[in-house]
Amino acid sequence: MAPRFNFDLQATDGKARTGVISTPRGEIRTPAFMPVGTAATVKAMMPESVAATGADILLGNTYHLMLRPTAERIDRLGGLHKFMNWDKPILTDSGGFQVMSLSDLRKMNEKGVTFRSHIDGSRHTLTPERSMEIQKLLGSDIVMCFDECTPFPAEEKVALESMRMSMRWADRSKEAFGDRPGYALFGIQQGSVYRDQREESAEKLRAIGFDGYAVGGLAVGEGQENMFSVLDYAPDMLPTDKPRYLMGVGKPDDIVGAVKRGIDMMDCVLPSRSGRTGQVFTRRGVVNIKNARHQDDPRPLDEHCTCPACSNYSRAYLHHVFRAQEIISSMLLTWHNLHYYQELMAGLRSAIAENRFDAFEKAFHAGRADGDIEQL
Ligand SMILES: [Zn+2]
Repeated sequence: MAPRFNFDLQATDGKARTGVISTPRGEIRTPAFMPVGTAATVKAMMPESVAATGADILLGNTYHLMLRPTAERIDRLGGLHKFMNWDKPILTDSGGFQVMSLSDLRKMNEKGVTFRSHIDGSRHTLTPERSMEIQKLLGSDIVMCFDECTPFPAEEKVALESMRMSMRWADRSKEAFGDRPGYALFGIQQGSVYRDQREESAEKLRAIGFDGYAVGGLAVGEGQENMFSVLDYAPDMLPTDKPRYLMGVGKPDDIVGAVKRGIDMMDCVLPSRSGRTGQVFTRRGVVNIKNARHQDDPRPLDEHCTCPACSNYSRAYLHHVFRAQEIISSMLLTWHNLHYYQELMAGLRSAIAENRFDAFEKAFHAGRADGDIEQL
């Protein structure tokens, strides 16, 4: 019998949870952070390096891949895992969010969205059925329902209509996905910042039945305070025995706060994108490597970090290659940032397993409050 997709919730500490998602392509330890491999690559990283940071799963973007090189071409070449040389699990988004944020001349109706490519102006249509087809062609292990990410802010009535359409699309997504042992389909809760809408959405999703549930419509400019106040109740409305995924989050303190509120999976471009712009995440907060204070500093970014950037290079070198716009700058800083994020997740997982989440959270905030090491 083919191995099934399964979630084993192993321990809780308050609302925080740790467990293991099993898939035929390997296990995902939760809470999990998924690096973003937008165009079939995590920018500036070899896939084996991404794995070496401790990542169990990557995120791929349906919108980008359907436009270039196209899902059909990736399928002909053996699927996304083989194409990009990543044999662990992959989660793909549905394309809906990026159609709204990147494409031109969008038209949305009950059927789906038609739009023009931001790359070459070509015309495309995404519907729940087409999104399921594309994600299947890619060979994605965790497929996301096609939905409308309700913009923020949204008036109550607008948010309600948007959420109800997404729930009808969730129905169609499930129908189109069919029965695929070993692959998972996640539903996405909407409802903006309105508690009764979040409840209605969760009820509808539970009735349809999914392998996992995302809290959608957050990290869209509402700010951490609004996000946390929704996360104070929204994850509790979702089944406890399935993974809960917060899409597009976030900064390290967003992640700690989301895990505290019962989130199991997250993804964000932040560690990789920041690596390319000289922003470095450390236990003592954000370091800006382009700052002149680093130019004569022989010390590593973080003496406790075991990543290649910290093990083998000085701040002075990292400052130099960033200023000189050398490619190794993006490689090293992205590696460090992804390593930092995965270390943070590993720390959260053991803290939850050992029932010391509160102490972990305190130490996390205290380290950041200390700020960067003294200038030489
Ligand atoms: Zn490092």
